Amino acid sequence: MSIETNYHRILSPVLRDWINSGDEKSYSTPVGILACQREPLLRQLNATVISSVTYSPPLPAGKNAKNAKKAVLAPTIPQDAICLALSDTVIFPEGGGQPSDTGIITTADGTVWNVLQAKRHGGQAIHYVHVPDGNVEAALLAFYPGVKVRVELDQAGFERRYDHMTLHTSQHLVSALLETRLRLSTLSWSLTSYPAPCYVEIPRGMTAEEISMIQDEANRLVFQGKQIHVEVEELDPQSIKPAEKLESGRTVGRGLPEDYTGGVNRVVVIDGVDRNPCCGTHLPSLNNLQLFILPHTDALSRSSTTVARLYFLAGPRLIAHLVSTHSRLASTAAILSCGLPQVPERVQQFVDERKNATRRIEDVELELAKYIAADLIRDMQGVSGVFKKYLHRTDDSPSALNVLTAISSAFAGMAGAEASYLIVLSSSPSAQTQTNSNVFFVIGSDDKHVKLVGDGLKTKLGVKGGGKGLKYSGKLVGVWKTGKDDVIVDEILSAVL
Ligand SMILES: [Zn+2]
Repeated sequence: MSIETNYHRILSPVLRDWINSGDEKSYSTPVGILACQREPLLRQLNATVISSVTYSPPLPAGKNAKNAKKAVLAPTIPQDAICLALSDTVIFPEGGGQPSDTGIITTADGTVWNVLQAKRHGGQAIHYVHVPDGNVEAALLAFYPGVKVRVELDQAGFERRYDHMTLHTSQHLVSALLETRLRLSTLSWSLTSYPAPCYVEIPRGMTAEEISMIQDEANRLVFQGKQIHVEVEELDPQSIKPAEKLESGRTVGRGLPEDYTGGVNRVVVIDGVDRNPCCGTHLPSLNNLQLFILPHTDALSRSSTTVARLYFLAGPRLIAHLVSTHSRLASTAAILSCGLPQVPERVQQFVDERKNATRRIEDVELELAKYIAADLIRDMQGVSGVFKKYLHRTDDSPSALNVLTAISSAFAGMAGAEASYLIVLSSSPSAQTQTNSNVFFVIGSDDKHVKLVGDGLKTKLGVKGGGKGLKYSGKLVGVWKTGKDDVIVDEILSAVL
């Protein structure tokens, strides 16, 4: 493995000695010039264990939203794990918005150990290694300082890394174009969990034309296969600038992490397009990036500042997105029995038809309510004193109570102010389930009678409800027991007067 290549350019000779590639491997190559950062497509490497300690879980995180955001892709580390520092590694420790790699380490006896994540501690990459049998003491012996191991990105680890590299490089390209073409700063970005689209946050929304222009421009550079390289030199503490701040006080992009002690200044260059300090692993070329930007921005309002998100996809994640989007569209088309291009039109048609049907049902229910009310009026003829009646309906409509209300209103209108009556209406769905909602509506010419019925429904049946004056409505959840519940309602009604 070469230390310096056309991709990885070491600007100062001192740095070459920092890379621990010789026979006497007694220290860790600092983060900034790790093998994964020098050769992003390298999948395995022989290394020496520098230190190994038992893993101690961090104290529970506070309600810090910043930590919560970072944790999106962070795995849960089990109790039985050890932390390893190696002379060098192909497993990238999280940083610069790029999540940690996962991989494997093979010890001399052929045992394969899973690396759950790698993190930067100061300037050192620490591997979190799972100890499957829980024997941490034996694991520490297997990884005694000085022991030779092979550290590797297995197939799953490499696919994960390739996805991260594709999207990280895409982000540099998108941010550079937004800055140079539209003067839009990237406030932050997120490499979201696979397979969701990633996004950059920018100070305002973008028009469809602007998005399309940025996408065309990006893909023109992808087509040209612009080369990418990395320049490294020692970090001059004097030259460290804090991340730029906007007038609103919001920080733009990311500065060097305050706890970084690796001492390497690293700049990622896309030829003729962008120079950006970054610790991430980047593709050697824009070739085959297949960048796609979702043609809209989402506005987020956060306290006093407005922020918009522009989503993008590239490489294997873009293909996965297209496959899943296509399969969802195809299954929708199959349900609608139409071709893919006709889906929006057919869905619109169904929505319109549904609205019409709902309106027609409401009209018919209103008409029906008048007939039921007229029947009640006929029953009331010739009755001396208070006309009392209980009527139960079976109705699967989610708005069954509206029908009862309509019957009551129609009845009250027809009966006139002189009539004396007390009517209980109830309605239950045809299916017998514990989650059924059975509804009640009570109407009367005397508010005291209405209240008595309401109280009876509450105490004898457990109906929850309430009312005012001449009306009461309530609800009873559960199976409606014909021959029992209706008899109780009859008794409640008889008990009044
Ligand atoms: Zn970066």
